[in-house]
Amino acid sequence: MTTKQNIKRYSRKELEELMQSIGEPRFRAAQLHRWLYSDRASDFHEMTTISKSLRETLDRKYFLPQCSMSSTQCVEDSSADSTTRKFLVQLHDQEAVETVLIPAEGRNTVCVSTQVGCPLHCSFCATGYMGFTRNLNAAEIAEQVFSAERMMGVYCSKFSGQPVRSRRMKQ
Ligand code: SF4
Repeated sequence: MTTKQNIKRYSRKELEELMQSIGEPRFRAAQLHRWLYSDRASDFHEMTTISKSLRETLDRKYFLPQCSMSSTQCVEDSSADSTTRKFLVQLHDQEAVETVLIPAEGRNTVCVSTQVGCPLHCSFCATGYMGFTRNLNAAEIAEQVFSAERMMGVYCSKFSGQPVRSRRMKQ
């Protein structure tokens, strides 16, 4: 039996190469990318601008993961009008990371994790004591934002801090 691959591991360019490798035009990758990241499709069969046969092919070979936010802890923040919410996010290999939603007037900020654990061992930080397990892939980072949206009915995006550091580490 062939193991299904995570479709969200592919970058936009890799999706183009994937479509070409199965005899589809390159613009299919743009359609697929839109369904994945703009329309937040949770099933290939929702992708109605893509032919039924291609949807079936994709469904046979790939899966569409969503992170599961397994618990919410509300943290009182006296400096803000609203309450900061901390989520424990269960990943597909049973590892878990935290995502934090920080509401403010007129906007919401989602603080995402980019790694399981951390290699820096700052003495005041519990995460540092866990050690470093692995980097998250792009899909797992994006899914934290999408999951926060689904749970809270918000839309937010701006990446800074740890994600930027992780990106530098890869360069
Ligand atoms: S998560 Fe931040 S504070 Fe904690 S060990 Fe890593 S760098 Fe230090």
